[in-house]
Amino acid sequence: MSKAQRVAIVTGGSRGIGRQVVLELAEEGYALVVNYAGNKADADETMAALAATGAKAIAFQADVADENAVNAMFDAAEREFGGVDVVVNMAGIMPVTPLVELDLDTLDRVIRTNLRGALLVTQQAALRVRPGGAIINTSSSITKFSRPGYTAYAATKGGVEAITLILARELRGRDITVNTVAPGPIDTELFLRGKDEETIARIAAEPPLGRMGTPEDIAPIVAFLAGPGRWINGQVVYANGGAV
Ligand code: NDP
Repeated sequence: MSKAQRVAIVTGGSRGIGRQVVLELAEEGYALVVNYAGNKADADETMAALAATGAKAIAFQADVADENAVNAMFDAAEREFGGVDVVVNMAGIMPVTPLVELDLDTLDRVIRTNLRGALLVTQQAALRVRPGGAIINTSSSITKFSRPGYTAYAATKGGVEAITLILARELRGRDITVNTVAPGPIDTELFLRGKDEETIARIAAEPPLGRMGTPEDIAPIVAFLAGPGRWINGQVVYANGGAV
């Protein structure tokens, strides 16, 4: 008898790390909901790559901070694929500003996407994910690195870690794992934006592995937590090539 197809929602799945997670899960046979905020061209490119693999997938535009849009996304997953087994919270933004120069609009924006958004998606996931499922959130190794410029961003990611650890315990008895992956610098638009070549080269040299991380370094970790890694629960997995 064939195993029932598992279904995953990946927020921020249209580009960057999220796109690689989507492709990895597709390879493992998941049906996918690929969420994005507004860049349809990137979402279309991801959907084309998925179509080439033969995976079942829908793209879903939704601001993760909008509760009605998030509910509609879960409804669409259930309608299209019959349920949800895995939710990967990858959507995020990263303003970099020294605290004394941080304006409140920027603060509100990063809290709205990274914290309110992650919480709303996680809340729906907690209500809807089927037994045997997994919720995977995304923090950042910046919560340990403590680099200047990242106060607001790191504060939201610290919140994501707290949500993860507590929700894992709230879901006792449901057979659902809840974990966070906390990457170090990864070669995506989010990381590269606004940085000169010298800064990028310096950061790339920090891990003992001697190179910049890539989405391909993170996606298998997410896929492991989504499926076989079930005895990992309520954890923050730092994935940064050993940088400190
Ligand atoms: P990218 O900027 O490459 O991609 C961001 C993705 O999130 C896009 O799909 C984007 O959609 C989506 N997104 C942004 N805001 C929203 C929103 N309000 N609602 C729904 N989707 C949204 O980022 P990365 O792939 O680099 O980062 C992914 C995650 O990993 C983030 O949470 C980030 O904080 C975290 N991370 C990244 C690191 C890095 O160095 N890159 C290091 C540590 C953590 P659209 O294109 O439509 O806007």
